Amino acid sequence: MSITRTAEELKQWATQMGIALSKTQIEQFMSYLALLVQVVQQVNITGIHDEEEIITRHFLDSLSCVMAVNLIPGMRVLDVGSGAGFPGVPLKIYSPEIRLTVVDASQKHLNFLYKLRSKLNCEFEILDGRAEEYGQFKEHREAYDLVVSRAVAKMNILAEYCLPLVKINGYFLAMKGQAGEIEARDAEPVIQMLGGEIEDVSAVVLPDGGIPSGSSKRVLIRVVKTKQTPAEYPRRTGVPEKKPLTDNCRVKSQVSDKISIVGRSGILA
Ligand code: SAM
Repeated sequence: MSITRTAEELKQWATQMGIALSKTQIEQFMSYLALLVQVVQQVNITGIHDEEEIITRHFLDSLSCVMAVNLIPGMRVLDVGSGAGFPGVPLKIYSPEIRLTVVDASQKHLNFLYKLRSKLNCEFEILDGRAEEYGQFKEHREAYDLVVSRAVAKMNILAEYCLPLVKINGYFLAMKGQAGEIEARDAEPVIQMLGGEIEDVSAVVLPDGGIPSGSSKRVLIRVVKTKQTPAEYPRRTGVPEKKPLTDNCRVKSQVSDKISIVGRSGILA
């Protein structure tokens, strides 16, 4: 497909989501796309290889975060388990004045992130290792205004990775699929124990990009940090996954009162 057409599609589909992209931003996304397409031929860093799907399922999906949180210049944003940069790098392209850090434990993804950073000439910090380790480091614990994460772990496990890294009054935004509402409800007691409160659960309908059955629903769970996380969390590397925190707390879930659906033309229901 021609670059001009791909760039035009990205612009048009972003507009459908209420997101205006400048010429420079479109150029950066096109460089990102070209590098991703080149690297996936040799290294399996994402299961999505088709250009239109990269645009819808990676770029636009990542940008859907801005429907749930405000990106403010200077704010510290951490992407946990960023993989090939999602959602953190598209957010940095969209809002260049955020201070972005990405963390990942996989070498092939880290290699890609280093390449991407120099190709885009974009400043962001890359942390090599596990979120559980950084959550116990003084410089990172309760240091971020916003922690985002997509496709890394179930909500109760993810909350243990992410909430210790969020500042008081900061946010944790989890990008989930169709089962997001259920995950949010099930994880609510764990989230509260870790110092968070679920503030909003929104369903976003992404543009389909002309792909049959391509239109997908994304559930965004926004958690505000109201209290410090108890010092023993996160537990050591691998423990959150092996022994996930569960509901022993008997907190009545209020998630169903907080669900809204946001689509191409705003709130659908
Ligand atoms: N967020 C990206 C996306 O949506 O395309 C990548 C998703 S990929 C399925 C999961 C990524 O999370 C992998 O790159 C893996 O190395 C990373 N990961 C999983 N658990 C992690 C942890 N505890 N700390 C840091 N990275 C982690």
